[in-house]
Amino acid sequence: MSLLANHIAVVSGAGSGIGRAIATGYAREGARVALFDINAAAAAETAEAIRSAGGTADSFALDVTSRDACFALAKEVTEKIGQVSILVNNAGIARRNAFTADTEAVAKDWHDIISLNLNGVFNMTQAYLAPLRATRGRIVNIGSIQSFLHLRTPSSAAYTASKHGVLGFTRALAAELGKEGVRVNAIGPGFIETPLNAQVRATNTTLVQTFVDHTPLGRTGRPEDIVGPAIFLASDLSAYVTGTIVMVDGGYGTV
Ligand code: NAP
Repeated sequence: MSLLANHIAVVSGAGSGIGRAIATGYAREGARVALFDINAAAAAETAEAIRSAGGTADSFALDVTSRDACFALAKEVTEKIGQVSILVNNAGIARRNAFTADTEAVAKDWHDIISLNLNGVFNMTQAYLAPLRATRGRIVNIGSIQSFLHLRTPSSAAYTASKHGVLGFTRALAAELGKEGVRVNAIGPGFIETPLNAQVRATNTTLVQTFVDHTPLGRTGRPEDIVGPAIFLASDLSAYVTGTIVMVDGGYGTV
């Protein structure tokens, strides 16, 4: 079954981790995928892997914090590939400086994290609004367990604020665009093993164990764990689902 046949999907941060897995999964379901990443080589490598497996993929360098670059690339993609019907706002960073840490470092974290995790979502969504409205498209935003919680394990207020913001944006946009048939949902990953947390996993096994101990399914997640829910939210399987967040956290939020 090709759940995403005839769709054109854009995935930001598609060169690594969760974005890479989602783009690969979407291509497997028949979507033509456009992979965006600030790391052009990583996006190109993922696109090549998708093509080698028989999918259709193009890659583009993009820094989603640049509104102008998002709009310029949206124009290029529409002209070269067609009207985007699925947008996955995935690119994001996490840092674990406490708010009481060095003032300048905390201010830089705030700027960088909000610019990417929240403003990047805004930039991309605005840039693709026209094709998404024309195609009665679907938006999938990547939130977090920190769309609801602030972790007692070290994290940053900026990251928590950004992911709460992603959920609020998801709900507000779903309400505004629903009448036009555009669906807007989010995914809330738990601790997923990706390069984003490679250093933590390598240097702080206690922290990782704290996560696992708190997780009913008793393990960390893998990027592939996000793929099924991401396909669900982009496909007609979720035709009557909008404004919600699907938690993919091994049950972390339930205990
Ligand atoms: P990842 O492996 O680090 O992948 C993120 C990708 O985004 C990287 O290729 C990165 O490039 C790229 N990127 C960074 N800045 C960018 C920019 N300004 N414009 C475009 N692309 C940019 O991270 P991940 O774990 O897959 O995370 C993906 C999303 O899931 C993020 O929104 C994250 O907050 C969320 N999430 C992750 C977890 C988790 O446990 N992993 C949990 C909850 C939520 P560089 O590598 O060159 O920086």
